[in-house]
Parts: sequence; structure tokens; C-alpha cells
Amino acid sequence: ADKDPPFLQLLEYVKSTVKTPSKGEAIVYWMRMQDMRIHDNRALSQASTQAQKDGIPLLVLFVLSPQDYIAHDRGARRVDFILRNLTVLKTLLAEMNIPLYTITHSPRRTLPSRVVSLLSEFKAAHLYGNIEHEIDELRRDIQVCQLAKEASINCTLVHDKCIIAPGTVKTKEGKTYTVYSPFLRAWAPHLADEPDPLECASEVHANDPSVRSNPHIGKLFNCSIPNAVEGFELDEHDAEIMRTCWPAGEKAAREMLDRFLRTKARTSQLGAVDPLAPGASEPTRSPEKGSRVAKYKDARDHVDADTTSRLSPYLAAGVISARECVRATMEYSGSKKVDLSRETGIGRWVQELAWRDFYTHVLALCPRVSMGRPFLEKYANVSWETNEEHLQAWKDGRTGVPIVDAGMRQANKMGWMHNRVRMIVAMYLVKDLMIDWRLGEKYFMEILIDGDLASNNGGWQWSASTGVDPVPYFRIFNPYTQSKKADPTGEYIRHFVPELAKLRGDDIHNPPAKTAEKLGYPTPLVKHDEARQRAIRRYKNPGDE
Ligand code: FAD
Repeated sequence: ADKDPPFLQLLEYVKSTVKTPSKGEAIVYWMRMQDMRIHDNRALSQASTQAQKDGIPLLVLFVLSPQDYIAHDRGARRVDFILRNLTVLKTLLAEMNIPLYTITHSPRRTLPSRVVSLLSEFKAAHLYGNIEHEIDELRRDIQVCQLAKEASINCTLVHDKCIIAPGTVKTKEGKTYTVYSPFLRAWAPHLADEPDPLECASEVHANDPSVRSNPHIGKLFNCSIPNAVEGFELDEHDAEIMRTCWPAGEKAAREMLDRFLRTKARTSQLGAVDPLAPGASEPTRSPEKGSRVAKYKDARDHVDADTTSRLSPYLAAGVISARECVRATMEYSGSKKVDLSRETGIGRWVQELAWRDFYTHVLALCPRVSMGRPFLEKYANVSWETNEEHLQAWKDGRTGVPIVDAGMRQANKMGWMHNRVRMIVAMYLVKDLMIDWRLGEKYFMEILIDGDLASNNGGWQWSASTGVDPVPYFRIFNPYTQSKKADPTGEYIRHFVPELAKLRGDDIHNPPAKTAEKLGYPTPLVKHDEARQRAIRRYKNPGDE
């Protein structure tokens, strides 16, 4: 772990409680952009239980913080998804007589004092929240705890994001795991711990209807959710696509999970890959044999069918809990034990959720990875190309390598990309174009609807060979070979790179120069073999040109 990470400092702060807490008139749950749900939400559930016990109302606070979004390179699609989820939540909470009060605040350095003065305004006795693991958010929460305690208000910040809390899984030497396989072996036994880490948080109680005439709280029901945040507006066309691909709310997330567990992926039906295409498959309600999860072990790396859960936007925004996802796999297989076998579809899928835990643990305990530093400092001085044209061609999906272009165009269109293609496009940017991985990381955060600092940084540093448990620098993907494996039918490329739609056989993966020219498709920016040699040279001797 890094020296004294703010995550461990925060855990110390939350242990201490106020000796003589103020006699409050409300309990506040501060919802963050990673826990946007009512069901199985630990901080919300604990806040609700406390409010019931004290016989005082519960209210929910949400802070839109544009400067945080800028600092984390979060894009308009992610912000729009927050707003859409807030709108759904506001209605559901209002039905329970719980107000959702949304404010927009900047600058971020004054946010802690603003929140604490709001608590005083509401005459709040206690603040609850789920821990966010990004360094700025941890520092903010430390300050909130300090200020709240000075005002005699207790703060309870709890763990909710991962299946197993960061800091729980340690090596024999008491260190953070930086290699996934031993992490997984150490992570799995914790699933059987008491209290049950998969246990569903208790349901939220409705407020008494009299809260609507409460002088401090009643007026909060009238606050509206903004349609956009300044600087993060989506154009109507993009907004429509996002609404179609990624409907907001817990119900939509549960339907996505259900679709993964109960319905089949249909190859050759490109609607399956792109829900915007004509003929996109609708979920079947009755379980199908050979559902996506059943086939996940063998099919998950195929991008020419819709083989994965597509739950990442919902997990990143906490619209569904990772616990619920695991419980659903147990229900599906009728088992009391979590399946973690490499040999089953369910087991492989739960292992992916463990990757999400792994990267969040790394972020919490080695925060320098998110501050533009490589985890492996020996690669800090690798020399990068600064070719703006190449970078732009990569962003636009015009590199002349069909699988890379298909992936980038998918992300530009849908705000999401299949994991295998994320690895291919990331490796191509870093090793073939020799462009700094941080520029790719930034662009992904800007366009992805599932942008998550821990997983995105983990994925980029894996591809750049600079991270925890990375691919060795000399094992460089050949994008053409990768293309044949990932998209054996070529349907994925044909769909997202329509100018190549008529190509058949191997040509779709690597079109002959003359054919490409005729079709108006670019010639490759670099020759893969030469680029590969250059990358190996530069990684071997960081600092060399
Ligand atoms: P499934 O295959 O159905 O997996 C289920 C869930 O497990 C995912 O929703 C996700 O929460 C988690 N998961 C799966 N693979 C990984 C992984 N390799 N690392 C961490 N968690 C994983 N994931 C994000 O959620 N946000 C990001 O910003 C992000 N950026 C990435 C950048 C790069 C360069 C790479 C290589 C990977 C990145 N990933 C990111 C991880 C992964 O690509 C996506 O989580 C996955 O493609 C989402 O699709 P899915 O929900 O259908 O996944």
C-alpha cells in the first residue's frame, strides 16, 4: 500500500463518535454517484433504521459537483445517466414520503462546509453515506467528518461498493494484493464470513406523511432535478441513443441482469450487439437453455454476439449492487454456495466481479495509480510519441485496423465497448501507436457511460504493462490475430465499420490495400511488426527513443 492512504485515515475518523450528539430532528443519507439505488443500499438502509428508531424523518441529499466531474474526466453521458437515475429515484422516494434534495455545488474545496451547514439547517442528528474510494472524495469525507463532529453531528460512512471491503484481503505480510490470482484465492473464503458479506441490506421505511408539512423538510419535496449540468450537456441525438441503450433505474438494471441470466445470445443478429440496430432482440421472460451466463465461459470473448451482461453502467453508478448480482447467480443455479469455478459460466462471471473488487482495493490502498503514476515506477520514463493525428484517428475509429476502428466507433456511438475490444484498442494505442496510456484513459472516461476510475485505470495500466498484474511489455497483441479470434464471423466489424460491410473471409480483418482504397477505408497508420519492435525497445530501455 502507499504510505498512509486517505482510505485508512478515513476509517480511523469514522470509528470515533461524538460524545454528546445534537438532539436532531432528521437523519440525512448523502447519496453519491456510485450508490444510486434504494434496494440493498447499506448506508441508506442504516440511515432509515436509525430514523425509525429515533422517530424522526429521513431525507436524501445528492450533490452535483461539476468540478469533481472535470477532475475525474467524467463525460456528459455519465453525468446524464446520473441525472436520469436521480429523476427515477426522486419519484420512488417521494412515494415513500422521503425527499431527494439535489444541489449543485462548486468549488469543491468548500463542499464539506456547505454540506455541514445544510445538516445544521435540516437540524440533522446524523449523516450516513457509502464510502467512495477516489482520493479527492476520501479527503473530502475526512473533512466532512471533522466539521460534522465539531457541530456535534455523527457521521457513519460504510462500505458498500465491493463484495468484500478494501483492506479485508491481505497477503501474509499484511500487504495489499497486487496480483489477481492470489487475490482471488484470498478473496473467496471471505464470502463465507460472518456477517454474511452478500447479505441484502434491510429495506427502507417510508416517512410519516406529516413530513410534508415539516418546516425544514417539507419544502425539499419541491426541489427539481436539473435537466443538464453546465459543461456536460448532451446533444439530443446522443441523449436519445443513451436512453435507448441504457434506460435508467433499478428496474432497468434488474431487467439487464435477468436478460443475462435467462436469455440466449443470438449470433448473426447484430441487434444483439447494438440494441439500436433493427431487429434488436427483446428479452424472453421464460428462462432459455444455454442462456448468456451458461455460455459465458466459452463465449465471453466473442464480440460478434451480445455475450456479456452489459451491466457495467449500472454497477458503476450503483444502480444495482454487486451483492445482488452474486445472489442472483446463486438463485439461478439453486445453490447455497457462490460458484467460483473457472469451468462454469457463472463461476467465470463472478470472477469478473472479483476483478472489479480487485481494482477498487488497489485504488483505495495505492491511490497514486489514479494520480497519473504508473504502478510500476520503472516504466515512468517510457518515451511516448506525441502524434496528434494518430491520437485523433484512434479516437475517431479511423486507424485502418478494422477491429480497433469497430471498437472505437462502438464506444463513440453507445458509450460502451466489449471488454476484449477495450483490451485490443488500448494495447493498440499504447504499443502500436506508442501514445501515452493516460491519454487513452482520459478519452475512455470522457465517452464511456460506465466510466469507473478504478476499473478504467486498472484496464489501461494492464494494457500499458505498467499496472498491478499487467500483461508483460513484450507480450503485444497482434490486432489482426486478435480480430479473428474475437470476431470470427466478422459481423462485429461489418456492423460498426459499414464501409467494409461487403468484405468476406479474412479480408474483413485486414483489408488488402487496393480494396481498402476503393472502399474509402484508411490504410493502417503503422506497420504492426515494426511498431511492436519499437515498443519492446522503448520498454526495455525506458528513456530511449
Ligand atoms: P461482464 O463481462 O458481464 O462482467 C460483469 C461485471 O464485472 C462488469 O459489469 C464489471 O463491473 C465487472 N468487470 C468485468 N470485467 C472487468 C475488468 N476487467 N475489470 C474490472 N471489472 C470488470 N469497466 C468499467 O466498469 N468501467 C470502466 O471505465 C472500464 N474501463 C476499462 C478500460 C480498459 C482499457 C479495459 C481493458 C477494461 C475496462 N473495464 C471497465 C472493464 C471491462 O471492460 C468492463 O467492465 C466490461 O466490458 C463491462 O461489460 P459487461 O458489464 O458486459 O461485463
